[in-house]
Amino acid sequence: LLKNADTAMYKAKSQGRNRYQFYTDDMTQKALQRVILETNLRKAISNDEFEVYYQPQVDAIDEKVVSMEALIRWNNPEKGLISPIHFIPLAEDTGMIIDIDNWVMQSVMKQVTLWHASKADIGRVSINISAILLNYKDFMKHVKESLKTTKCHPEWLEFEVTESHIMRDTQASIEILNEISDMGIRISIDDFGTGYSSLAYLKKLPIDKLKIDQSFVKDLTTDENDREIVRTIISMAKNLNMSVIAEGVETIEQKEFLVENGCNTIQGYFYYKPLNVDDINQNVLKV
Ligand code: C2E
Ligand code: CA
Ligand code: CA
Repeated sequence: LLKNADTAMYKAKSQGRNRYQFYTDDMTQKALQRVILETNLRKAISNDEFEVYYQPQVDAIDEKVVSMEALIRWNNPEKGLISPIHFIPLAEDTGMIIDIDNWVMQSVMKQVTLWHASKADIGRVSINISAILLNYKDFMKHVKESLKTTKCHPEWLEFEVTESHIMRDTQASIEILNEISDMGIRISIDDFGTGYSSLAYLKKLPIDKLKIDQSFVKDLTTDENDREIVRTIISMAKNLNMSVIAEGVETIEQKEFLVENGCNTIQGYFYYKPLNVDDINQNVLKV
């Protein structure tokens, strides 16, 4: 009884406290699944189960690939391919994200160095950086060490951080983002439009690019509100001297709307899905 009451209490706490919650069997099931996932996740790095996929970003005017985003994939021997949306939140809760994102960073840097050595024209490759890692005291040390050991140049990279993460702790963000930017790594704000940006801070931060969140792109052809939001983000980026990219673009209508309104850089299934290195080499870079 006490154990189950405890489980219900944790559930109530995780939903924002100051409420009651009845125990259900389902809670134990979920907690159990979480423990299993967590145990497997701990072994994933040493077992070499992660792989980085790359999704090309295209200039819609001349249809050339201008950059790519690195996206992690987890190939679990029992469960098959597990999407990052199912394990990144758990990795963030448990702190494992630090090891995972450092692994991603290192493996992307290695790959980017290889591409440059083979003279492939790949533009900047962007890496998703969790707020937990950004606030981690040794983060910059890790970045510098990894650049050194992989012989990767900061000018070949871009870091993606989400809007809500930067705005949560603005003073600390200003310092760390300035340090990254001074090194030559570009910074883009991911999922832009879904958080609460302070315009004053947006101007102060060394941000190079706004990434229009896919939730606004999805209904672009039917929802007048989304069209207006997207137009606003594009003109805001222009006024703040930042570049702008749209993600989750799946149809020609969405692409055309974006181009007509001044957003030429496009990422989404309309052009490419995220691909593994072999596919990128054969079908995109043709090296
Ligand atoms: P995100 O950074 O917003 O990445 C975009 C997601 O949209 C990716 O999902 C991508 O595969 C998907 N996507 C791309 N084009 C389209 C499209 O046309 N239509 C639709 N419906 N989806 C599209 P993915 O790869 O499953 O990643 C999910 C999230 O997991 C990412 O969202 C990011 O927040 C996180 N993530 C992925 N890799 C990493 C990583 O290495 N580190 C961290 N910290 N987070 C990561
Ligand atoms: Ca991203
Ligand atoms: Ca995004």
